[in-house]
Order: sequence, then structure tokens, then C-alpha cells
Amino acid sequence: MSISASFDETYAETIGDGGAEQRPGTFAVGLDIGGTKVLGVLLAADGTVVDSVRLPTVRGGDGVVRSASDVVRRLAAAADLNLEEIGAVGVGVPGLVDPETGSVHHAVNLGIHADQFPLADRISRELGGTPVHVDNDLNVAALGASFALGPDADDLAYLALGTGMAAGVVMGGELRRGASGAAGEVGHIPIRPDGPVCACGQRGCVELYASGSALARRWPTTSDVPAPLLVFQAAAEGDPRALEIRHDFAVALAECLRIVVLSYDVRRIVIGGGVTGVGPSLLEVLCEALAEQAATSAFLESLHIADRVSLAPSDVPIAAVGAALAGLRSE
Ligand SMILES: [Zn+2]
Repeated sequence: MSISASFDETYAETIGDGGAEQRPGTFAVGLDIGGTKVLGVLLAADGTVVDSVRLPTVRGGDGVVRSASDVVRRLAAAADLNLEEIGAVGVGVPGLVDPETGSVHHAVNLGIHADQFPLADRISRELGGTPVHVDNDLNVAALGASFALGPDADDLAYLALGTGMAAGVVMGGELRRGASGAAGEVGHIPIRPDGPVCACGQRGCVELYASGSALARRWPTTSDVPAPLLVFQAAAEGDPRALEIRHDFAVALAECLRIVVLSYDVRRIVIGGGVTGVGPSLLEVLCEALAEQAATSAFLESLHIADRVSLAPSDVPIAAVGAALAGLRSE
């Protein structure tokens, strides 16, 4: 699976090109650590995903360190590599991360409740000193998506629609975190001043209307099937209430995309997260809502927002690939 022709350049800038004859650090590993599994990829210098390994996440600080190290060791062993030949390990985790120190702050999804858990240091020590970089999962997904989609995607927002909603932002090929790490917290932009109070304390935030939880609130179910799927299914069958809920959702999402484009003017917006499980109809209803917005504004129309939107690629593990790149770039 070739990721991008530009990998060679990135790699050469980051690691240097002295590794051709010997191969110390020729490869990079990226880990996408979630609440249930760790997905790791081994990335070669030509941008190829050489191999991938998926293991269950053992919860808690020690468990996460062990799961992550196990994945790296398995990837190395399967490719017949020493750990010294892994130039960098990059890690994406859900939760608050200090990318400078690699410390994780209350990553509840991973069962890490410590105020500052030194995840990068601990994994590095476990691997005998391999450099490890830890970043937020949205940030690495944005980096991976930007890389996978090529030069046209140097300015990109990766918008995750799950329980909540937030974005990772890449500008000029680089991650943008902002002065306090809040860049991309678009889920907490208020769009309905008279709306309900959000967990953040404001009223009418986007994520109250355009997230998986928003759909679940309006379509309560005891089924194992996620609410977004049920709503979209029922809407496809013509259920009037499901049609209304789906439309409200699409309108709020379209409003959010308008804010993202007007704030960052990104050329590409990639939508990922659990809600994308509903498939291409998500994009269809979203584009309809965007067209409704643009119908009354030549200005909005000229921005061609719908042309910028796509669903996250299903054939590239963008978060793990982005984590490997983040690891290389931090060296
Ligand atoms: Zn909020």
C-alpha cells in the first residue's frame, strides 16, 4: 500500500539519507491506541505500509505501555528488524496530551487517570531507548489524512464525528494546535444561542446537534445497532421523524463546515469517526444541506465547500500512518 510519493522527501528531511547502506532507523512505527485496540503500522522509507498488527488494549498506564511495546516488537520481529532499525515510534491517543513531553492527562478511555502520565518516556524505556512521540489521536489522523491525500491536502481539517465532535487541523502540511491546544475544538462553537446547556457550560454547541450522541438523544434505542445507523436506515425507508432528525443533523454539520472553511480555508475536509459507519449517505445529506446554505449566498457558493468534503479513506489506517509521521517529524 503506497501512501504517498512525498514520503521519501519527508523521510529524508527528518532522518537523513545516510541509512541506505546500514539501516539504523530506516523504518518508523505508528500506533493508533484506542480504548479497545492498538493498531500499529510499520512504515518503510518509500511510504509503504509494510505490515500492520492489531492487539487488544490493556487498560491503565502500565497496560497501555505494555500493549504499545508489544505491537512495536511484533512489527519488528515480523519484518526481521532490530529495534535499533526503528527510527521513531509515533503514538496517537484519545485525550489531552502534551506533545512536548509526551505526557498524557486523564485519558479516561484508556483507563489512565493520572494527572500527568509520562507515556512517551515509559514506552521508550520499554523499547530500550527508541524515540517515542505521543500526540492526540485527531492530530495524527489529520496528519495521516493530509499525507495520504497528497499535496492537494496540505491544508486540511480532519473532523471526527463520534460521541462528540472535534477537528485536527493541518496547514501548509504542518499540524496547527494553537496557543493553548484549542485549535480545532469546533464541537464547542455555539450555533444556537437558545439551545440547551452543553457539558462545556455554553449553550447550543455544534456537538449537541451534529454528533453521534446528538442522534442518539433524538433516537433512543436499546438495540446494539448505533443510533446513527438506525436513523439513516429509517430515513432511507421514508420515516418522517427520521428524515427530520437526519436533516437537522446535516444542517448543523453543514454550519460547522462553513465555520471551519471560513476560519481556516482548508482545501480538504475529511470526515471520520463512528458516525461515518452510515456510509456514503452521510456525504449525500451533508452536500444537500451545504447546497441549501449556498443557494442564498453567492459568497458561500463561491467557496465550493461541498467539493472540499470527503469521508476518511477506508483502505489507509490514517491515524496510525499519521502517528508514524508525527514520530519522524519530532526527531
Ligand atoms: Zn460545548
